[in-house]
Amino acid sequence: MNENLNGQTKEELLLKIKNQKLLIDELLAEKEAEAKLDYPWKGNLGHWYWNIQSNDVVFNPMKVEAIGYTIEELPDKIPYSFFTDKLHPDDYERVMENMSQHLEGSTPVYEVEYRIQAKDGSWKWFYDRGKVTKRSEDGTPLFSAGIVFDVSKQKSKVENLEDLTSSLIKLVDKDELTGIRNRRAVIRELKTHLLDSAVKDKKLAVSMIDIDDFKQLNDTKGHVFGDYVLKEIAKTLERTLGKKGIVGRYGGEEFLILLPDSSKDAAQQFLENCRAAIETNEFLKQEAITISGGYTFYTQGDYEDVIKEADKNLYQYKASGKNKMTG
Ligand code: GH3
Ligand code: MG
Ligand code: MG
Repeated sequence: MNENLNGQTKEELLLKIKNQKLLIDELLAEKEAEAKLDYPWKGNLGHWYWNIQSNDVVFNPMKVEAIGYTIEELPDKIPYSFFTDKLHPDDYERVMENMSQHLEGSTPVYEVEYRIQAKDGSWKWFYDRGKVTKRSEDGTPLFSAGIVFDVSKQKSKVENLEDLTSSLIKLVDKDELTGIRNRRAVIRELKTHLLDSAVKDKKLAVSMIDIDDFKQLNDTKGHVFGDYVLKEIAKTLERTLGKKGIVGRYGGEEFLILLPDSSKDAAQQFLENCRAAIETNEFLKQEAITISGGYTFYTQGDYEDVIKEADKNLYQYKASGKNKMTG
């Protein structure tokens, strides 16, 4: 035969025709549906068609334009991997899993959100939804079609809101003056640790700390100086406790310290370290500032009972002396 087949075999051409026919059928079916629905959200919509057997992807230019490519710079035949290679590594497995579940027939649709890296290196969010539209008699998927939305704008709005929410959460837990946990945050921690201690049988030490003769300092040096002292004490307590304890400002010049999972000796030692850190602090020692604390171990009752018990130990001692931790 010397038919001019442009260098292609008859089989190759027949396959091409078959694939074109699949695509045409699909487009016709969709046009019909589109005419009925007249997609109102067309502006942000990309259609895609994936011939699974030949691995050809045909799509509306929107998707490639959204990621910074022009139609001219793309290869003639776009394989499925053109997009999947650009998937964000954190999204890759989720997308593949979703697609393979749908291809094997266990889900009615393929539906997923993912990030694709644009030509300039930035990440764009897409919402993608599709479906196998043709299967062979034995169920092998032949053709799939879907729609894809660029949802980057919506995503960044959601991300901004999430950032805002988490900074607001941090803000409501923060004591305005000292920057450490405020009363509500430390009481929340106390309630959580009381439960934990009751369930897991861990010993929880709770201590109320009070600055010695603070009124006198305010009266002689002024409240602005007093505020500075409060800040320095709060920072020093937090630093000294590190990850072993939790501290918050309970009230004016009182701090609550929690030592979860602590023995009597360990609690006494930690609180003694706190007391000594204040007494020896370069700035605080110039004014001979000291703290006293009372502590107790949680056994029963609610959080107020534990605080009352720690308070009792603090004030019993304060009456006779200062600069000490009493359990
Ligand atoms: P004690 O050794 O018995 O604890 O005596 P004290 O003077 O420390 O205790 P008192 O309860 O008489 O006084 C506490 C003082 O703490 C009074 C108040 O002005 C001061 N104070 C409470 N909150 C703040 C604050 O936010 N800033 C400043 N500068 N002072 C505060
Ligand atoms: Mg006090
Ligand atoms: Mg005091």
